[in-house]
Amino acid sequence: MNVLVALKRVVDAEVSVRPTADGSAVDTANVRMAMNPFDEVALEEAVRWKEHALATEVVVVSCGPSACQDTLRTALAFGADRAVLVQADADLQPLAVAKLLKAVAEREGSGIIVCGKQAIDDDSGQTGQMLAALLGWSQAVAAAKVELGGDGALVTQEIDGGAEVLQLPLPFVLTVDLHLNHPRYPSLPNVLKAKKRPVEVLLPADLGVDVAPRLATVRIAEAPRRRGGGRVADVSELLSKLRDEARVIP
Ligand code: AMP
Repeated sequence: MNVLVALKRVVDAEVSVRPTADGSAVDTANVRMAMNPFDEVALEEAVRWKEHALATEVVVVSCGPSACQDTLRTALAFGADRAVLVQADADLQPLAVAKLLKAVAEREGSGIIVCGKQAIDDDSGQTGQMLAALLGWSQAVAAAKVELGGDGALVTQEIDGGAEVLQLPLPFVLTVDLHLNHPRYPSLPNVLKAKKRPVEVLLPADLGVDVAPRLATVRIAEAPRRRGGGRVADVSELLSKLRDEARVIP
């Protein structure tokens, strides 16, 4: 079975982001980029299926500028079999990405598509759900455990106060949580080999998908700065500060 893993290139989780001067976007100029952490977990899970002969091929796909090839090559070093870049320089919103992923999955004949629970740049948490709806496939979101076998999977999702176990028939879309596994570090020889491996490049038009944005961003603003803390001399001073000064920060 062919497994498709969706990888988004995002600003590295360690970088503190800032809005551009005109407040229209997040400033990504000269900022370190990386694979979305949730997508690393998605990829690790798919590669383990391949290693346990539960999947025949793991194909990774990223939609975005040509620099996404770096992310795809990292995925090849992780153990993915093939990589596809859907190249688009414009901002891609979750619905457009879902349509592109649907088209790639149909082209590949995928039986499972694995996405992250959310991309850490836009925190949308929408793409996997939209993709399942467009395809008419089963879905489970925020998977914390997946037991794949036979003609489907048992998927455990963490919910308030416990866990919910779902049985999904194939084909299905899965979005994964960080608790699912610990992604491996690719070895240096694999990283070097991946640099020479081909990445198939497609355009949205090749897939017949209109990626025009449906939503307009009104403004991007930094969160208000937190004011520094201070020391109190004793408990009674603490209590009076809590009574007279403490307030909820909007
Ligand atoms: P989001 O709905 O934007 O929070 O993204 C959820 C998941 O969808 C991500 O973790 C990725 O697996 C996938 N995804 C989102 N955007 C892209 C993209 N541009 N290319 C490939 N996969 C994406």
